[in-house]
Amino acid sequence: MANKDNIVIVGGGPVGMVLALLLAKQGVASTLLEARKLGAANQDTRALALSYGTRRILEKLGVWQHLSAHATAINTIHVSQKGSLGRSILRAQDYQQEALGYVLSYGALCTVLNAELQRLTIVSLIDEAQADAISYDDQQAVIRYTRLGEQAQLSSALAVLADGGRSLEAAAGLQRETKEYGHDALITKVSAELAHDNVAYERFTAEGPMALLPNGERDFSLVWTGKKELIEPLLALSDAEFLAQFHAQFGDRVGRFLTVGKRMTFPLRLSQLQEAATPHLVVIGNAAQTMHPVAGQGFNVGLRDAEVLAQHIVHANATLGSVEMLAAYRASRKTDTKNGLLFTDFLVNIFSNDILGFAKLRSVGLGVFDLVAPVKRHLVRKMSFGK
Ligand SMILES: Cc1cc2nc3c(=O)[nH]c(=O)nc-3n(C[C@H](O)[C@H](O)[C@H](O)COP(=O)(O)OP(=O)(O)OC[C@H]3O[C@@H](n4cnc5c(N)ncnc54)[C@H](O)[C@@H]3O)c2cc1C
Repeated sequence: MANKDNIVIVGGGPVGMVLALLLAKQGVASTLLEARKLGAANQDTRALALSYGTRRILEKLGVWQHLSAHATAINTIHVSQKGSLGRSILRAQDYQQEALGYVLSYGALCTVLNAELQRLTIVSLIDEAQADAISYDDQQAVIRYTRLGEQAQLSSALAVLADGGRSLEAAAGLQRETKEYGHDALITKVSAELAHDNVAYERFTAEGPMALLPNGERDFSLVWTGKKELIEPLLALSDAEFLAQFHAQFGDRVGRFLTVGKRMTFPLRLSQLQEAATPHLVVIGNAAQTMHPVAGQGFNVGLRDAEVLAQHIVHANATLGSVEMLAAYRASRKTDTKNGLLFTDFLVNIFSNDILGFAKLRSVGLGVFDLVAPVKRHLVRKMSFGK
C-alpha cells in the first residue's frame, strides 16, 4: 500500500535536497534515498553558477545566510569574442539587483543543505542507498534499493527521480533525446595577476565558448569548452604551458595567469527526457535535462523544477501522483526548460561557428546588443529568474 503522505525522492544531490526542504517547510514528509555516504559530496570543489532567482529560493529555505560567506557575487558580466572588438557588458546596478548571480562550490552547497535536512525530523534521509529500479501502476510507485548489501523497497503515491541522469531512466522505462556536441568542457581554478572585481567573463572563440567566473577572494573558476580533440590534450600540458595557451585565447583583461588547479574534463551534451505521461513518477533537475554550461542555466533550471514541483504537491487540485497532477506540473515547466535548452544551444551554435563572415556579424551583433537596453534587460531577467 502506498504511503500517501510520504514522497520518495531518489537522489540527494542539490536538487533532491532542495525539494525535500521545500516540502518539509510546508509540512510534507519525504524520504530521500542517496547512493553515497552522507557528506561524500562536501569536498566537491566544482563551481556552480547560481542565478539571482536561485538565491531567492535558498533564502526562502533559510539556508542562504549560511551560504553567503562561501558565495562570490557576480556583479558584472563581460561578453566578448576572440578576434573582434565587439563586446557587451551587463551590470547588476543597471537592473536594481544586488548581483547578477553567484559562484558557489557544489561541496559548500551540499554541506549546508545536508545540515538543514538533518535538523528536520519530517525528512528521512537514507544514505548509501542505491535505487535499482522504479516501477509504477495506477496506484503507486515502487522503488527498490540496495543498502549495505541488503535489498529493500518503498512505495509511494509519488516517486521523484533526481539522480542527475546517472542511473535510473532506463530502469524507469523513460527515454531521452540527446544531442552530442562532440565537445568537452575542461574545468579548473586559475589565479591571475589582477583582482577579479566580481566580474564574470564569457568569451566566445571559433573553437567554442569559455567562461571565467570569480570564485573566492582572488581565484577564478574556468570552464573552457571546445572539440574533444582540442580540449583533451590540455590535460597533459604542464601548468606553465596550459596557462600560456589559455592566456592566448582569453587575452589580457586580468593580466597574466599565475596558477592553475587540478584540471578535469567532461563531455557536453544537450539532453531532455521524452515526454511521458507516467503516473506516480516525475523527473527533475539534471535527470530531466542537461545543458551546455555556456550560460550557467542548467543548475538553476533544475532548482526551479524543484520549486515548482513543491508548489504543485502542496497546492494540487488533483490527487497526489495522478496523471492529471503530473501533467499540470510538466506543462508548467515546459516553457522554462525549452527556453533554457534553446538559449544555450543558440549561443553554442551562433558563437562557435567558423563560417566565413560569421565572426564579423557576431561582433556587430555584440556591439548592437550592447546599445539595446530592452534586449539586455530581457536577457538579465531570463538569466536571473528564467522569465
Ligand atoms: C563533471 C561535471 C561538472 C559540472 N560542472 C558544472 C559547472 O562548472 N557549473 C555548473 O553550473 N554546473 C556544472 N555541472 C552541472 C551541475 O553539477 C548540475 O547542474 C547539478 O549538479 C544538478 O543537480 P542534481 O541534484 O540534479 O544532480 P546531481 O548533482 O548529479 O545529484 C544527483 C544525486 O543522485 C545520487 N544518485 C545517483 N543515482 C542514484 C541512485 N540510483 N540511487 C540513489 N541516489 C542516486 C548521486 O549520488 C547524487 O548525489 C557539472 C556537472 C558535471 C557532471
